[in-house]
Amino acid sequence: MGYFPHPVEIEYKSADDALHMLFSDDHVSVFPTAYLRGYCPCARCQGHSGGDPEWQTLTRKSQVEVDDVQPVGNYALTITWGDGHDTGIYSFKKLREMCPCPECMPDGLPDEERSFEG
Ligand SMILES: [Zn+2]
Ligand SMILES: [Zn+2]
Repeated sequence: MGYFPHPVEIEYKSADDALHMLFSDDHVSVFPTAYLRGYCPCARCQGHSGGDPEWQTLTRKSQVEVDDVQPVGNYALTITWGDGHDTGIYSFKKLREMCPCPECMPDGLPDEERSFEG
């Protein structure tokens, strides 16, 4: 196990449709909501195959709207989406691994994962 950074601040900013997180090691991550929803790790979205979540094409704007963000224990969070979907559990470790900042992901995200284009 060992130490792993966890978010100390989480803020949804509708202006850029992103969840902004400040991690305990002062790293800042900005997750476009489309990116988080497209990689929703729940069994309904991903099936039961295990392994890393695969990109799921988004079809409705409500799928990328954030209604609520709640902690799960001290290791993860859940997001309630605008279409009522709330079964995805995003572990802090996984979120940090997904960080799309230029330092963590030099190639950046593909356009479709950056924002929802209805
Ligand atoms: Zn899901
Ligand atoms: Zn990063």
